[in-house]
Amino acid sequence: MSNGYGIETKCVQSGWQPECGEPRVLPIYQSTTFKYDTSDQMGRLFDLEDNGYFYTRLQNPTNDAVAAKIAELEGGVAAMLTSSGQAANYFAVFNICEAGDHIVVSNSVYGGTFNLYGTTLKKQGIDCTFIDPDASYEEIGAAFKPNTKALVAETVANPSLVVLDIEKMAKVAHDHGVPLIVDNTFPTPINCRPFEWGADIVTHSTTKYMDGHAMSVGGCIVDSGNFDWTAHVDKYPGLTRPDESYHGIVYTEKFGKLAYITKATSQLMRDLGSIQSPQNAFLLNVGLETLHLRVPRHCENALKVAEYLEGHEKIAWVNYPGLESSKYHTLAEKYMPGGTCGVISFGLKGGRDVSVGFMDKLKLAAIVTHVADARTCVLHPASHTHRQMTDEQLKEAGIAPDLIRFSVGIENVKDIIADLEQALEAV
Ligand SMILES: *Cc1c(COP(=O)(O)O)cnc(C)c1O
Repeated sequence: MSNGYGIETKCVQSGWQPECGEPRVLPIYQSTTFKYDTSDQMGRLFDLEDNGYFYTRLQNPTNDAVAAKIAELEGGVAAMLTSSGQAANYFAVFNICEAGDHIVVSNSVYGGTFNLYGTTLKKQGIDCTFIDPDASYEEIGAAFKPNTKALVAETVANPSLVVLDIEKMAKVAHDHGVPLIVDNTFPTPINCRPFEWGADIVTHSTTKYMDGHAMSVGGCIVDSGNFDWTAHVDKYPGLTRPDESYHGIVYTEKFGKLAYITKATSQLMRDLGSIQSPQNAFLLNVGLETLHLRVPRHCENALKVAEYLEGHEKIAWVNYPGLESSKYHTLAEKYMPGGTCGVISFGLKGGRDVSVGFMDKLKLAAIVTHVADARTCVLHPASHTHRQMTDEQLKEAGIAPDLIRFSVGIENVKDIIADLEQALEAV
């Protein structure tokens, strides 16, 4: 679709452009497989000689249409849907790393991602050094080793809401000859397009604002096409040297700017199989059609809630990058002037137990293991999502034991504030 269109138009119309007489709405290709006339036609697909579908574990037309929409929203060259955000973050790194390699990761990443890189990838022989994303260029640079293959961070961290200095991170990464991979789940491309600031790969948990209605778990990887793998042939042999599992294809030679996503699709999906179901991709697409309307309302409501809480005597602290009091306000203004996200965090005076007791009194805001959907919801990371982390790790990740993660929905903000008010009165 024409790049001249605004992002609102892309949300609604990109990805699926029907030909004359085809369905107006993206169809769900609920088929595991695809039919060919000759054995040779199918054989060429297996050799990556022709473009086409043969088995949904690798590719499906519904998924591809939705991936193409997300690629356009981010301004990338190609994208791939995954079964979850976790799968996206795993594949994004595993696509360019193998046993013996090393990655540098922001210590404020989502708890699941922290475990994935810090524990599970380690078991596979990929080592990880966590850094403070607020540290200086020099300090972050000091974490790099000769075998480092990527720098990974979140544009707005879940749940600490650390806003990433994307340009600084991109410079560190590029000066060390590696790509910057950022998880852009919280701002979404409506608020921030990391490729415009030098990031190379973007990942998403589409489970959050993109789906927007808490209906389907999913993920996505988008490639900017900007990182020059061939400038580091020895570092990225998986992309720049023959793939024996595909009769010696060299991805960068055969696919150019599409090399990274083609390898992820044809090799990782083939072997590890974490495809998004076409049903979920369909639901995701419905969510994407209103992303540009929902995200600004989430941000508007969140700012009002944050301001209300900041003025309340029972509240110890409020963290929302949209607040002038936030240490990330300047970075947020630079990278996401339209708003950051609908998630805020805060703590009550009296500490952890008071915070937890307050949550139990909320009525409109539900306690759920979710964030970033239409309905206001609340969670206590130290008891829930980040339960596996030690107090020391929590502190390093910027998560106070009394931290309440409050995901502001798109209800009437007066009702959200009234709910907070009655719960605060009750503690
Ligand atoms: C939720 C989340 C993930 C994990 O995504 P799933 O879809 O739950 O697997 C990764 N990164 C961020 C920033 C998230 O918020």
